[in-house]
Amino acid sequence: MVIVGGGPGGYEAALVARQLGADVTVVEDKGLGGSAVLTDVVPSKTLIATAEFMTTTESAPSLGILSSGDGGDGVGVDFEMIDRRVLDLAKAQSKDIRTRLEREGVAIVNGTGRLEGSGCVVATTKHGQQRLPADVILLATGARPRTLETAQPDGERILTWTQLYDLVEAPEHLIVVGSGVTGAEFAGAYQALGAAVTLVSSRDRVLPNEDADAAELIEAVFRRRGMEVLSRSRAAGVRREGDRVMVDLVDGRVVEGSHCLIAVGGVPNTEDLGLETAEVRTTASGHIAVDRVSRTTARGVYAAGDCTGVLALASVAAMQGRIAMWHALGDAVSPLDLAQVSANIFTAPEIATVGIPESDITTGKVRGAVTMLPLARNPRAKMLGISEGFVKLFSHRASGLVVGGVVVAPRASELIHPITLAIANRLTVDQVANAFTVYPSLSGSIAEAARVLHDKRG
Ligand SMILES: Cc1cc2nc3c(=O)[nH]c(=O)nc-3n(C[C@H](O)[C@H](O)[C@H](O)COP(=O)(O)OP(=O)(O)OC[C@H]3O[C@@H](n4cnc5c(N)ncnc54)[C@H](O)[C@@H]3O)c2cc1C
Repeated sequence: MVIVGGGPGGYEAALVARQLGADVTVVEDKGLGGSAVLTDVVPSKTLIATAEFMTTTESAPSLGILSSGDGGDGVGVDFEMIDRRVLDLAKAQSKDIRTRLEREGVAIVNGTGRLEGSGCVVATTKHGQQRLPADVILLATGARPRTLETAQPDGERILTWTQLYDLVEAPEHLIVVGSGVTGAEFAGAYQALGAAVTLVSSRDRVLPNEDADAAELIEAVFRRRGMEVLSRSRAAGVRREGDRVMVDLVDGRVVEGSHCLIAVGGVPNTEDLGLETAEVRTTASGHIAVDRVSRTTARGVYAAGDCTGVLALASVAAMQGRIAMWHALGDAVSPLDLAQVSANIFTAPEIATVGIPESDITTGKVRGAVTMLPLARNPRAKMLGISEGFVKLFSHRASGLVVGGVVVAPRASELIHPITLAIANRLTVDQVANAFTVYPSLSGSIAEAARVLHDKRG
């Protein structure tokens, strides 16, 4: 088994393949853990951990907490230390993954892998080329930041998300181009860390592909905290003028700041993989086409993660990789089911989702019922000083099965799990409602939403 790429898609697959007794080699060119660990998930969520702490100080005065300032604003951040912590943590996590793989007996080749037909990978390392014949190959090469021709990152002031952690000071005024998940997360985090932030969004609202109520709420929170959100504003280009950056909008306006983060999505790392030598088909966007058990169009060649464009999440990459190995090695396997994927946007408050979107119900695609409970009514939320957020639950009318949910709350990423469990195990709203929740607790709102849906069956 040869795996090209050591991110979550690759390293989780390697562990499964070893467990099933295969000889496994991972070829990785940057570091174990991949972009997920080195530049994307781990660094961003570590930075956001500090930012989250800063946003919780917002409610301090109303909870009776005094600070050295005039009520909450006596707290500051040490940017250099935050960035050092981010990079150290990423490095340590990468090292842990390498140690684990080595302990399990996975061979690791530091280099770049390329297909030579469907039965061999050629690795280019600093010592030369190495041929690695394989019965099964998994491609898990991930993606990299998309940049615009007219907005070339310089690593100093015009940045991709992989370049943010070399800044030693908080940007005085950060302009974030792109209001998808990555743009929204960083815009919120840097604002919490003390930067002035302008979010440039080409769409009507931030997070255009997410639950509309959640996106509206987070945009209102951003604005309340002083962020400038420019909706329906497409960036034409970004340029440097000395120590300033100028973002030119298509309509002729110019936004000036000290730094600019380009967050306009990713492109798959599939160009130099020798895909044509094995007749591995790609889609129009350059992603590797796969089925629900991660097979490509070439026999014995599988693909997982961001290079497939199925759903750009570390959890999905890891599951696609495991499924590939279970399938290739003849173990029991269930095809990938995206309806069971829970996802989280690490803004403050967080936005977590699972199952079908509400639009499937409002458009009549699913005959379902919806209930939404504001967190402000939840007793624990009142005690914690939480006034923004909600729990939304979707059920199937005829069967009463839970089919989806949205939680907007601090640590929504943890609160979504009972809803995920309900969907994965085909629980009805009554079963969810009848399980005890702690009093008082935020999860009490999930049980209450399920109780409300009891009356919407039929
Ligand atoms: C800022 C940001 C934050 C994110 N936060 C989250 C989050 O909180 N939760 C979540 O689930 N997802 C998150 N994601 C998405 C997540 O990072 C990706 O879905 C995940 O990294 C995909 O894993 P992967 O294994 O496909 O690829 P990667 O993690 O990109 O790993 C692929 C590896 O393959 C290597 N490689 C490429 N080509 C070759 C080659 N030819 N030979 C050898 N090696 C090669 C690359 O260098 C890389 O190390 C985030 C993404 C971004 C951009």
